[in-house]
Amino acid sequence: MNNAVFDLAAYLKDLEYLINIDSGSNYPEGTAQVAQFFHQKFSAMGWQVRSHNFDSSIGPCLEIVNTDQGQYDVLLMGHMDTVFKIGTVAERPFMVKEDKAFGPGVNDMKAGLLSIYYALSSLQHEGKLNQTSICIAFNSDEEISSMFSRTWLEELSEKSRYALVLEAARANGNLVNQRKGVGRYKIEVFGVAAHSGVDPEKGCSAIQELAHWILALHNKTNYQTGTTVNVGVISGGTAVNVVADQAKAEVDLRFYNVAEVEAIENIMKDLVAHPRTSGVIAKVTGGVTRPPMNPTEKTLQLCSVVEQIGCELGIEIGWTATGGGSDGSFAANLGIPTIDGLGPVGGGSHGANEYILIHSIEPRFHLLRRIIQDIAEN
Ligand SMILES: [Zn+2]
Repeated sequence: MNNAVFDLAAYLKDLEYLINIDSGSNYPEGTAQVAQFFHQKFSAMGWQVRSHNFDSSIGPCLEIVNTDQGQYDVLLMGHMDTVFKIGTVAERPFMVKEDKAFGPGVNDMKAGLLSIYYALSSLQHEGKLNQTSICIAFNSDEEISSMFSRTWLEELSEKSRYALVLEAARANGNLVNQRKGVGRYKIEVFGVAAHSGVDPEKGCSAIQELAHWILALHNKTNYQTGTTVNVGVISGGTAVNVVADQAKAEVDLRFYNVAEVEAIENIMKDLVAHPRTSGVIAKVTGGVTRPPMNPTEKTLQLCSVVEQIGCELGIEIGWTATGGGSDGSFAANLGIPTIDGLGPVGGGSHGANEYILIHSIEPRFHLLRRIIQDIAEN
């Protein structure tokens, strides 16, 4: 059944080209160069490629379709940006060592992007997409919470029957059908400065107030339900002998259950309305940046189809729920059956040892092809 020809040498050559482009979210020239690669490839296949410029601080986002009917059987999602700064490629360019390919963005998620192209190109070559409508969405701001592309991704999701996300498979080979939602908040506290030795009673400590916030928020972490709150960055004060007139914190919230977000936001509202330290004023900005991806009945049906295909291809399929966000959450939150982690197997995302397993590229290419075919036929 998996008689499709796969040219691993060509794939690795294309991958080397893509990895050796610095394409951090805040480097539009880089993501534009990655976009250019796919623009050319899909145009050459006769597909329509639209380039959206949602903001000048990020590169283009690509909307690629093989039909003009505006409704899609499958939406394939991926991001062209990485978390790495300019110059990372010069420090550690694409490298192959034994069964691993290394380089910035290889796992998160340039190999996944490339697998989309290889799978669709081979399916089209065999005439297997004639009755299937496909939309591909490649954004350039996923690593900064898809702040400019979210609405567009949601619009495309609503036009699609299924969404497949090509983030890498987990290091153990598992796919992903559940992800936590993400919330991000900034807290600013304003107090009154005073000499801590001469007249401390005239001061109002912003740091003291922030301490109440930190304890109240961390107290809401609940590993049973999967809700975690992390005050990851704090700053404040001017000198050791001055009562702090300002303090700031950044908060990361992860959750499966939306009701728990409301409880946590209520704690923050209460602290704003009733500061625990007299004379201070606090302000909160931010909110939920990604909804949770929780599998529906239809998602679970798709999962069992994927397991069946994996069985036929000799790939054991397992499922992971992860606290990491992805754009799949936008589709899943709209009720579209969504599966993530369909890229090659790898690990080490966002770090210097990021890799994919070369021997996993071809089997996962076949898996993706078969999933698309199955959706098309049913
Ligand atoms: Zn990613």
